[in-house]
Amino acid sequence: MLTTTIQDGVAILSIDNPPVNALSSAVCQAMIDALAGGNDDASVKGFVITGNGRGMFSGGADITEFATILRERKANVRDAVDAAERSAKPIAAAIDGRALGGGLELALACDLRFATPLSQFGFPEIKLGLIPGAGGTQRLPRVLKGGSMEGVIAALELILKGDPIDAERAEALELIDGVGADAVPRAAEAIRRFTGARRRVSERSASAYPQVFSEGHKRVPPEDRGGFAAHKALDAVEAATQWPFNHGIARELRYFLELLTGSESRAYQHIFFAERELGKIPGIPTDGAVRPIRRAAVIGAGTMGSGIAITFANAGVPVSVLDASKEAIERGRATIEQSYADQVKRRRLSEEEAKRRHGHVHFIERFEDVADADIVIEAVFEDLAIKKEVFAKLDAVAKPDAVLATNTSTLDVDAIASATSRPQQVIGMHFFSPAYIMKLLEIVRGKASSPQTIGAAIALAKKLRKVGVLVANCDGFVGNRMLAPYFREAAHLLEEGALPQQIDAAMTDFGFAMGPFAVSDLAGVDVGARIRAEREKAGRLGAGRVPRFDVLLFERGRFGQKTGAGFYRYDTGERIPKPDPEVEALIVAESRELGIERRSIGNDEIVKRCVYALINEGANVLYDGIALRSSDIDIVWIYGYGFPPFRGGPMYYADTLGLKRVLAEVERFHGEFGVRWKPSPLLVELATTGKTFSSYRPALTEVAP
Ligand code: NAD
Repeated sequence: MLTTTIQDGVAILSIDNPPVNALSSAVCQAMIDALAGGNDDASVKGFVITGNGRGMFSGGADITEFATILRERKANVRDAVDAAERSAKPIAAAIDGRALGGGLELALACDLRFATPLSQFGFPEIKLGLIPGAGGTQRLPRVLKGGSMEGVIAALELILKGDPIDAERAEALELIDGVGADAVPRAAEAIRRFTGARRRVSERSASAYPQVFSEGHKRVPPEDRGGFAAHKALDAVEAATQWPFNHGIARELRYFLELLTGSESRAYQHIFFAERELGKIPGIPTDGAVRPIRRAAVIGAGTMGSGIAITFANAGVPVSVLDASKEAIERGRATIEQSYADQVKRRRLSEEEAKRRHGHVHFIERFEDVADADIVIEAVFEDLAIKKEVFAKLDAVAKPDAVLATNTSTLDVDAIASATSRPQQVIGMHFFSPAYIMKLLEIVRGKASSPQTIGAAIALAKKLRKVGVLVANCDGFVGNRMLAPYFREAAHLLEEGALPQQIDAAMTDFGFAMGPFAVSDLAGVDVGARIRAEREKAGRLGAGRVPRFDVLLFERGRFGQKTGAGFYRYDTGERIPKPDPEVEALIVAESRELGIERRSIGNDEIVKRCVYALINEGANVLYDGIALRSSDIDIVWIYGYGFPPFRGGPMYYADTLGLKRVLAEVERFHGEFGVRWKPSPLLVELATTGKTFSSYRPALTEVAP
């Protein structure tokens, strides 16, 4: 937990709580005891607090203890920080790695801070809908740039963005007093030479014009749209500039507790724990027990193939790319080159790093050349016959234990696997576009996919720094299957009286990153129209009459952003959707043709119908065993489809509304709009027995094949 060694009169307190040196209750108590012990020991001149030399000073509070700490009154980070503040003897922090959240707050309660060159400093609390709660909002503005306005602004940026800064920047901001590999001996020496009174940060002051805060409030989202924590952070830092330290600290604590028990932070905590659940699948081998992926190959150098190749290269995995068309290879080569050049230009990557990563991508011309790959990912046209042909070829040349993956969005993974003699090694890996940016990866297990293959795909997702969600094989898997009724409901609203811009505005106001029609234009109206045609052929279009705006736009060559017109129009070279009178005329004509009298539709109705359509289909996805648990569905929608994270995902959101209430509305819509609103049997079951989606656990053990 914490080891204490005395070196020439200085007590070195090393936090030792792998993997992230979290300041758990036990560590905090040990810190309090060690500081008390050293203060009572006349031979101790002062303290150095450091990590364990494994790249982590401290990752901050232990989030799994949040709930119990409130209830059980055990020692927490705030108590440890208070003990450091009260210590009569001086303390230096020797930051030897990442100092995040409570870790940084502890360092800020020290008199001096030294750091090793690779250290990082940050307050990630905002990403959990919180603010620093152990003095961070009060001490940071007092430290940076001597508490000047420039320092206060920098403190706000750190707290509001939640991204860490490096040692160079930290030194420039005066957060630390020195950088060097010798941080620990240097800190110890500084304590030995320490003279005079302690140099407590709490005794300094910070100042800034009030406009800094009023401007800040304008720039963050409203309190009820994911901005609650940001507004509280601004208020807390403002208090640091105006009130005595003790008053500011009290205010910070009040805000912190209010946030911790508020709906926004609870939603973020739900996502945090949902991510940790993802990898827990009974019967599936984890990281150490699966064959590692050292080399990859990608078939198809189009939009997805190039993006997937970049993803591998970024993770340091050599990747070979093959395409049937010479032009496609040239285009793919140019896309990849351009992507790295852009990242250098935007200073996201150094030139050397871009070169190193780019060096992992090779283009190949023959299928035989994939023989050394541990995984082959197919990203050719969305056409079952072509995909089967590709898999038959791969079966002949890939090494015996290679994983054969398809990036299909809608096709049957089992049908694709049937083209090989080794269906147990076939799996879906559904990346999202752009593949090297979007975090979501749906891992689609086929009927025959072996635990080893599934385990390899899950481990690979981690290596590629993706959020990998294991789902079962069905039309659209989890994400696109739920997208269909969501888009469909939006289209029905068009027929009844709404316009694309109104629906999109209502959904972004609810918190979605983009509205359904802006998304359609981005993804391609043509893509949607083609999928619809396939579904129609297969008799899988859905119950009742399905609106046909995608077909009407497709017929007019309005494919979305790529043709400068879709549900909106776009000025040349621009991506800003502009309402188009032509589309409005088309919508009004369609209503007339259908004999629907257009009416004025409120935003409440729009949001309710679109979101409840999602929830009802999510319940079906769960009922059918396509997702393992409701939180997996939340992850898919937050990371792949821009569902507002502060609402925790569609299923969590439904739980917070109460399933009884959701069912009542779905039943009402069923009565009003007919068969497409048939309540999911699972929704009925859970609502009538007073349960939640989160409590529903389909027999997990049965999932592993
Ligand atoms: P694309 O048309 O941009 O690229 C497909 C590439 O495959 C083309 O370069 C083509 O020359 C090549 N190809 C076709 N047949 C081939 C063969 N027999 N051998 C080798 N190469 C062949 O398509 P895309 O958008 O990259 O989509 C690829 C796959 O990814 C599809 O299955 C699609 O459904 C899926 N997907 C697409 C997206 C998206 O947003 N575009 C998202 C997720 C999944």
